[in-house]
Amino acid sequence: MLPQEQEQEQELCPERQNPCHDYALSRNDDMPVLLIGIDDTDSKYGMCTTYIAVLLVKTLSKYGKVALPILMRLNPTIPYKTRGNGAVALIVSTEKEKEVKELVLQTVAENAELKAEGTEPGVVFVRCHELRSYAERRLARFSAAAVRHVLSVENAEKTLAKLPAECSAFKKKGRGLIGALAATGFFFLGCCGDERLLDKTYELIAYRHEERWGTPRDIDDASVFLADRLTYPLTWDTVDQSLRRVICAPHSPCPILFGIRGDDVAAIRKAYEVIRSEPVKMAQLFVTNQGTDAHLIEAKISDVENYHSYILKGVVSRDPIVTKGGHVFFSLSDFDGTAAIDCAAYEPTKGFRSVVRKLRVGDVIAAYGSVKNYTLNLEKIEVLKLKTHVVKKNPKCDICGRTMESAGMNKGYRCVACKTYAASPMLAVERRDIDEGFYEVTPSARRHLSKPLIRFPSKIKVHPSR
Ligand SMILES: [Zn+2]
Repeated sequence: MLPQEQEQEQELCPERQNPCHDYALSRNDDMPVLLIGIDDTDSKYGMCTTYIAVLLVKTLSKYGKVALPILMRLNPTIPYKTRGNGAVALIVSTEKEKEVKELVLQTVAENAELKAEGTEPGVVFVRCHELRSYAERRLARFSAAAVRHVLSVENAEKTLAKLPAECSAFKKKGRGLIGALAATGFFFLGCCGDERLLDKTYELIAYRHEERWGTPRDIDDASVFLADRLTYPLTWDTVDQSLRRVICAPHSPCPILFGIRGDDVAAIRKAYEVIRSEPVKMAQLFVTNQGTDAHLIEAKISDVENYHSYILKGVVSRDPIVTKGGHVFFSLSDFDGTAAIDCAAYEPTKGFRSVVRKLRVGDVIAAYGSVKNYTLNLEKIEVLKLKTHVVKKNPKCDICGRTMESAGMNKGYRCVACKTYAASPMLAVERRDIDEGFYEVTPSARRHLSKPLIRFPSKIKVHPSR
């Protein structure tokens, strides 16, 4: 071992709050812990990587203790992603490493959409008990980068080479390796010292019986609205109240029946119990980075790159316009006016657009969203300071208090009843029909990673969409 590595090894990870991290390291026996990452097993025609994870949670338990599985959402702007760009990871305490690996690879091979073009499954095994803290940090950095940046298979291979780990790629390119490795790093994201990366939520996912895959889902909408009413805001994004729509069930041919997201496991379970639907084949709770804003990078407008997601502070430099199709666009500039970017609230963001339309040149805001084609696709905004516009108004009569009328062009103002006169107009601050604070898209348009305002600390002024 190099001296430098020894020194690094003695440094303790600054953040040990991640419960999975604790689980992996605070075990009181000498049982080896294996981290298993899996990604890119699905296609637009079916399957879901979480489904394979649940099959494994059940079958791996005969070889050891299996912890709560991880569902980790990665950079949502990646062009080749399937749907939500989610990878999964499992933690298994086991002495039967060989058997576990065989079972994992066999289960992935049997269930992945291997024939689909663009599906390139990857599986990674990390021997957690052999990880030194410098290796944990390396893995954590890779994992954080997979949420915020664009990585290559070579990046994954380089990181893998420095870890006590093996990988299996099922097709030549093995793009799934990126997500698989990233998901095993979820346990160590606390090392990055970034609050948004440390945050976590839960999702309880219910799966359909195989013979129903690809058919319309049979879910009683009223029971879903009831479940929401009973458990919101400890659960969220189950329904979209403004659109009167159930949003916890996908419309793809995948095995998922519905998923309940939230911060509180008891509330999630309660919501699950209330929902009436076709028979559930199996259900599994995942710990996730959904609803955490983990993908957002605080940056200057001049540093913006495509395929990244940002928090950009600036000044509105062009009033909003509405284009054909109902999309709303405005420009945001740096405070020194050297760089600008177009910001968009697209039609599916619904009521959010009416807030965005009220912005005016000079307003100071923070824009949250993903950049493609050098346009920021808004997920939320924080109105920091509204520009005050002074307008001229007819003055009020000193005697009766009524608004005076014009006495003619450049002739001042008068009150006919009291015979009073004023030479100049009254200057007044224009009333703005928008408040400071946070605003967000309607729940049905929300990205998996985007943090609902209802999750923000209560001291922050928010205007949640429901
Ligand atoms: Zn008067």
